Amino acid sequence: MNKKLLYLFLFILAGCNESKKKSPAVFFSGEIVNPTSKHVVLYKGDVVIDSSSLDENNMFAFKLDSIEDGLYHFNHSPELQYVYLEKGDSLLIRLNTADFDESLVFSGSGEEINNFMVEMYLACESEEKLINEYYSLVPKDFIRKIDSLQQMKIDLLDNLKVESALSVKESEIAEANIVYYYATFKEMYPFKHRKYSEKKAIPKLSKDFYAYRKNLTYGKKDFTYLRPYYEYMTYHFGNLAYMSCSSNCNIKDKMVKNHLHFNKHKLKLIDSLVEETELKDNLFRNVALGYLLKVRDTEENNQIFIRVFRALSGNNRHIEEINDTYEGIRNIQPNKKIPNVQVINLIGEKMSLQQIAENKKVVFYFWSSTYKKHFNDISKRVVQLSKQKPEYTFVGISVQANDNEWKNLVETAGLDSTNQYKTENFDTLNKALIIYPMNKCIITDNALIVDAFANMYYSF
Ligand SMILES: [Zn+2]
Repeated sequence: MNKKLLYLFLFILAGCNESKKKSPAVFFSGEIVNPTSKHVVLYKGDVVIDSSSLDENNMFAFKLDSIEDGLYHFNHSPELQYVYLEKGDSLLIRLNTADFDESLVFSGSGEEINNFMVEMYLACESEEKLINEYYSLVPKDFIRKIDSLQQMKIDLLDNLKVESALSVKESEIAEANIVYYYATFKEMYPFKHRKYSEKKAIPKLSKDFYAYRKNLTYGKKDFTYLRPYYEYMTYHFGNLAYMSCSSNCNIKDKMVKNHLHFNKHKLKLIDSLVEETELKDNLFRNVALGYLLKVRDTEENNQIFIRVFRALSGNNRHIEEINDTYEGIRNIQPNKKIPNVQVINLIGEKMSLQQIAENKKVVFYFWSSTYKKHFNDISKRVVQLSKQKPEYTFVGISVQANDNEWKNLVETAGLDSTNQYKTENFDTLNKALIIYPMNKCIITDNALIVDAFANMYYSF
């Protein structure tokens, strides 16, 4: 037998052997130092695949018999992190919640791509300040700087490819993780440049500036939940909508102030360019929630928007959440009665919000023991405001229901315990009161809403 053929033969044999040996099952386990919850939950996109309780040694374990190769993420509340899994992988992690991303280490088969992704995340995080300085550069220099940062990461990936046998899918994910991350800055450049160079107008950019776009795709299912890919898409459509509204659309008010037009236009652009259903649904959701929650447009405009949204994306995978948000906002407009949700006081009695708010001026604010800094800050603010604004009763609602911790925190923060409540059902409360952002508060007068989107720090 000639030598070349022999090698080929051996190679094929070795290949067969390996595929036989490699069981399709995936093992993913690990230790959580300083756990902040009792579980680890594994997701593929927004679907829960499995969950595992921590044992007495704070270890969790998943054995997954047949899963699709690709990007997953695991949640150890409140933190979230990627994990890339392929059939036959046996991965072990160790992480300390006191230093979540910095402490995360993967070992076992599949470790290379996963450690690389963490390493990239940390490297990119450390560049943020530098990139902010680049925004004032002229377009050509800006692109050169960003491309050189990108090339450094691509070189690292090329080294990794030489050292370890990454699969095609692993290489694609690792590369997309880098390329879309840096492309996002280019999408943001015109707006950031205006801000950092203190210019009045958005700079006119040549077609060359956006040349990188032709190598990027709207239709790669494997990238849907890759954070840099998704973020790129949100900024990209922001950029496209802005540019096209400002040059082509004949609108009454100044474009940037006409949120209804701008957001409808964005929906239409996404609809015409994105074919991959899940990405499209997620981008639609992003526009809808951004518009409904952040713009706080008139009731009339919200209604126009939701009609357009339903016509374009009535079967969106997030339609229930979007409808709930729309309805929730509609129900807490000024002069409407505060929704009659039940909460529980410190001695275990159920009360409705309308009962609590009757015959006085109330400010409802929200907190969770998961976010200690937020709780400390808001408690101080309540103590201060109670003195400055004695005409209001400040009513705290804990949205997270660990009884002992709740009582202890209320006591140590020096809050008036007769004005403290908790919910046993966050979803119901959130649907009714739209608790976003965390610092929002609801001002009522004799149970009628004055402002359901006030802010504990700006509204008084
Ligand atoms: Zn437009």
